[in-house]
Amino acid sequence: MAVQASESTSTSAVSLGPAAALSCRECGTRFPLGPIFACQECFGPLEVAYDLPSGDPEGLKKQIEAGPDNIWRYAPLLPVPADVADKPNLNPGFTKLVKADRLAAELGVTGGLYVKDDSGNPTHSFKDRVVAIAVEAARAFGFTTLSCSSTGNLAGAVGAAARRAGFRSCVFIPHDLEAGKVVMAAVYGGDLVGIEGNYDDVNRFCSELIGDPLGEGWGFVNVNLRPYYGEGSKTLAYEICEQLGWELPDQLVIPIASGSQLTKIDKGLKELIRLGLVEDKPYKIFGAQAEGCSPVSTAFKAGHDVVRPQKPNTIAKSLAIGNPADGPYVLDIARRTGGAVEDVNDEQVVDAIKLLARTEGIFAETAGGVTVGVTKKLIENGLIDPAKSLVVLNTGDGLKTLDAVAPTTGPTATIRPSLDSFREAGLG
Ligand SMILES: *Cc1c(COP(=O)(O)O)cnc(C)c1O
Ligand SMILES: [Zn+2]
Repeated sequence: MAVQASESTSTSAVSLGPAAALSCRECGTRFPLGPIFACQECFGPLEVAYDLPSGDPEGLKKQIEAGPDNIWRYAPLLPVPADVADKPNLNPGFTKLVKADRLAAELGVTGGLYVKDDSGNPTHSFKDRVVAIAVEAARAFGFTTLSCSSTGNLAGAVGAAARRAGFRSCVFIPHDLEAGKVVMAAVYGGDLVGIEGNYDDVNRFCSELIGDPLGEGWGFVNVNLRPYYGEGSKTLAYEICEQLGWELPDQLVIPIASGSQLTKIDKGLKELIRLGLVEDKPYKIFGAQAEGCSPVSTAFKAGHDVVRPQKPNTIAKSLAIGNPADGPYVLDIARRTGGAVEDVNDEQVVDAIKLLARTEGIFAETAGGVTVGVTKKLIENGLIDPAKSLVVLNTGDGLKTLDAVAPTTGPTATIRPSLDSFREAGLG
């Protein structure tokens, strides 16, 4: 049984599980599955359309629950082959959903506050999810080199996944990233290229490289494989709902770089409703940006539909995309669901990293600080309802952005190895 019509299925040369075709977000034109990302009619972004299973939600739930403890438990809902779990892959996902009662008390949330902690992925950020799906598409399309334009975490995720899956990799980053990100991107042994410019320059460079013989046979996970890559973020929606006992949360706070993650989490939630895996009820999606790179929150607050590009200047480098590809869709989703997009400054980011660490024992990277900081701000200005359930995403590990907190964090005291010295420090 199929929910969607599948005119294009028979014309697709490759088979990626339930994926039926690529379809244009703007005009709906369908294309066979392939390494393309823009509509040939209107240049709109393409996304994966499915023949999803339907009619037996309880059976599907049981099948998922019996699956592996990683994103492949959702293979029936993803553009991947049915035997994906048997292939060499980093197998990310099924990270912890932490009931954050101490943070809730601090923020005055009474409706249930949860932190979805994606620092627990193989390369310590949510990017392992999107890369895992892109790797399967790259295999299907016969690419031998994996590449990407990255704000840091993606480069490491691609480097590691390429090694595991047996691809060559060559990834591109802005030259001035945090040491933790650079080391993570380089240690797996693929090629790492720093580009003198910001992420938007790196991304433009990669678009040129795709059209050049130099980049032939390369799968750029977030450019020519972007429609598949994006689908990886749906697994966050699936996991959150499954971990809540197959229920939708009332409110979610999600960080925004390009906006892909936020839009695909919304897509995942809508699929769960359509498939009958969760009961339909309204949910609100809130987006989080850093003040120093806030093109989407600026547009949201001004009531604009278009996103004016900015030149990023923030410690939240993983979110520093000044010209976010999915910005307008983020605005649509925030407005349609009754959510909002907000930003916090660098000092508030650092405070929020420490708040999460001291209340819940979770050390987030700067992107997590942005999300927790924005959550606090949205509660204070009344846009988040503290009496309703709330899920906040931590998308990366604080060990990769130590410099953000190092200047204001350190030993309580340094003493001689004697009891007298410890007594003098007054800590007994
Ligand atoms: C890439 C990234 C995001 C969000 O990216 P989108 O481009 O909006 O999908 C969020 N947090 C971290 C830590 C990231 O690396
Ligand atoms: Zn189109």
